[in-house]
This record gives sequence, structure tokens and C-alpha cells, in this order.
Amino acid sequence: MLRLLLIRTNNIVTLKRRRRRVAPDGLLLLGPHCLQQHLCQRKVTDDLNQCSRCGGCRVSDMLGLCHEYGLRGHLVGGGRRALEKVRQPEIAAVIAVACEKELCDGIMAAFPKPVLAVPNQCPNGPCRDTTVDIAAVRAAIEALLDPRKRTAGLPISESDARSP
Ligand code: SF4
Repeated sequence: MLRLLLIRTNNIVTLKRRRRRVAPDGLLLLGPHCLQQHLCQRKVTDDLNQCSRCGGCRVSDMLGLCHEYGLRGHLVGGGRRALEKVRQPEIAAVIAVACEKELCDGIMAAFPKPVLAVPNQCPNGPCRDTTVDIAAVRAAIEALLDPRKRTAGLPISESDARSP
């Protein structure tokens, strides 16, 4: 409960005091690897584009949002990997999906970069076939994205971004 309060407070402060409108390639969408359906063999933690978008889990929707808004997107297996992504200099703001504990740790570790946090849901127990309210993720993206720089179809990973 306390963690949820911290997350909500962070989101309010981020929107009211620390809001930054960023270009799509400066906005990072991070999700936990447990969003992936556990029987799926696709290597989506290495590259979200490996998802075939079968609709079996929310990874499909996360990838869809990345393509729709032209965001960088990653699924990560833990806080350290997430922080590596967040600390890349081109990243100006973050939309983070994770469990409440990871979100609280991540918000503090990412400071001063603004983070809008969306807790995932665990209907199958912790860290297994989790899900997320995609409408909430979309709302967070819309809140931080600079509408003047919105461009669909930009690459979703750093390696793609470096390509001509
Ligand atoms: S949407 Fe389908 S292909 Fe993509 S990660 Fe989920 S189960 Fe695998």
C-alpha cells in the first residue's frame, strides 16, 4: 500500500512539477520480462520486435504502442538492466511498467530523469504471466510525448536508431 502511494505521488509530481515533453526517440518504454507468456519461445527480452504479436500476452500491445508512437521499448529481466537502458544519454523520460517494488526502486535510481510508473498486475502470482492496463500505459505516453514531434514508425531499439 505504501509503495502504491509512493508511485502515485511520483506520478503526480512528475506531471505537475517535473513534466517534460519529449520527442519519441527520447522516451523509453520499459516493461518486465514476466509480461511475456511463459510458454512463448520468442526472444523478446533481446528485441521486442521478435514478438510475432499473436496476442497471447501484453507484449503484443507494448510493441504496438512502440510502433504507433515511434518509441524505444524494452523488456528487462531486472532493475540493473533497466537502469542501463534508463541511463543512456539520449533517454529524457521513461514510462516504466513493473511490480510496485521494482517501480519504487527504479524511480529513485532513475532520478533526475522523470519516470511515469504503471504497476503491472499479477493474476498468476508474482513474476509469472503478468499483465498491464494498456490504456494506462498509453495515457502515460501521451502525457510525456511532445505532440509537435510525434512521428509514428520510428525505430524501437538503440541499434535500430543508429541505422540510417
Ligand atoms: S504476444 Fe505472442 S509472440 Fe508476443 S511475446 Fe506474447 S505470446 Fe509471445
